[in-house]
Amino acid sequence: MSYDYDAPASAKLFDRAQLVTPGGVNSPVRAFRGVGGTPRFMVSGKGAYLTDADGREYVDLVCSWGPMILGHAHPAVLEAAGAALAHGTSFGTPSEGEVVLAEEIVDRIAPVEQVRLVSSGTEATMSAIRLARGYTGRSKVVKFAGCYHGHVDALLAAAGSGLATLALPDTPGVTGTQTGDTIVLPYNDIEAARAAFAEHGQQIACVITEAAAGNMGVVPPRPGFNAALRELCHTHGALYISDEVMTGFRCSREGWFGIDGVVPDLMTFGKVMGGGFPTAAFGGRAEVMAQLAPIGPVYQAGTLSGNPVATAAGLATLRHCTPEVYTRLDATARTVAALASEALTREGVAHRVQFAGTMFSIFFTDTEVVDYATAKTQDTERFKAFFHAMLAGGVYLPPSAFEAWFVSAAHDEDAVARIAEALPAAAAAAAAAVNS
Ligand SMILES: *Cc1c(COP(=O)(O)O)cnc(C)c1O
Repeated sequence: MSYDYDAPASAKLFDRAQLVTPGGVNSPVRAFRGVGGTPRFMVSGKGAYLTDADGREYVDLVCSWGPMILGHAHPAVLEAAGAALAHGTSFGTPSEGEVVLAEEIVDRIAPVEQVRLVSSGTEATMSAIRLARGYTGRSKVVKFAGCYHGHVDALLAAAGSGLATLALPDTPGVTGTQTGDTIVLPYNDIEAARAAFAEHGQQIACVITEAAAGNMGVVPPRPGFNAALRELCHTHGALYISDEVMTGFRCSREGWFGIDGVVPDLMTFGKVMGGGFPTAAFGGRAEVMAQLAPIGPVYQAGTLSGNPVATAAGLATLRHCTPEVYTRLDATARTVAALASEALTREGVAHRVQFAGTMFSIFFTDTEVVDYATAKTQDTERFKAFFHAMLAGGVYLPPSAFEAWFVSAAHDEDAVARIAEALPAAAAAAAAAVNS
């Protein structure tokens, strides 16, 4: 099926992009490989809406993969970034904004006593793992299949996100030595974790897990799973790292920690806390963080870490993420999920809606999704048809069946009404799709 209706300007840009950039994109899922067709090149965003190069407007259910929690071009964020910009863009010295952003994170997230700012979620998880290895003097890292922690070499084994979409089991360029100390286990399977610790307990530096998995679609941890992992880590002298790059400041005001209260040794943040700029962080117990340079031996650095414009935008975003914002996000997410589910049910399309706080996704399967194997029972042909009908109807969904859907505080009744309008045709298209 051809999906290249209505996007001549994007198609032209995509042709040019492919000449100078591999696959025409700077991050793989953007290329629409998971759904086919031409990726839309966006030119502007305002509130709940994106406008593409052909002048078409979409209700945005990606929100830059999470960061735009207040909606695009939020006035307070623009003002904060603009004010910082006027004072210069990077000093390569400490500056006050870094302190204030760190204070805000430490105030909000009880287990975080100290935090270090970096420029991407990948850097945050990479640094947290290095720190855990340095702190424990051990080498092995436990991760879960379908959990994505950025493109850290050691963690690119059975990762979700773009790798779920592209079905790459692994990636060339990452050597056996780099993943040789990585133990990959099925998500939500505490018995598998117990067995791994029974065998390798003395060598395990840390367990890293998404606080609630969002990169194979949304798969919340089973009740007690995170707590049991933490317990296992502590029994065996390993650190428990909760990756909240996606869930942090999104699932609730205190992220997933605000929902399950399991206290990690280290946490990683990104996405929402950057307010649409490249800023991320890792933090935790002061005694562990004290192992970092310049006070400790574990090296970690960054030319643009704590960038003044990014920290100003991040801080403005967090300050506007009030309890009311989370109440609103929750209500909107539940409304959108219910509307989509009703439309799919009416057409007899098998699906499951799964939530983690205000984060959700819809799986095109009738199997309960508890891990990566069950996530892969999805009928991706039905999702493709659904995605393109929604796109034609002016709704921008994540271009992959294995991603979370995101709403913002700017998604109002009008935006929800537009989604509702697009759904019947999309559900019918999903029903008509050939099951491959
Ligand atoms: C997005 C994400 C990352 C990687 O963050 P980048 O900023 O893309 O490097 C890491 N962990 C989780 C859970 C994520 O969702």
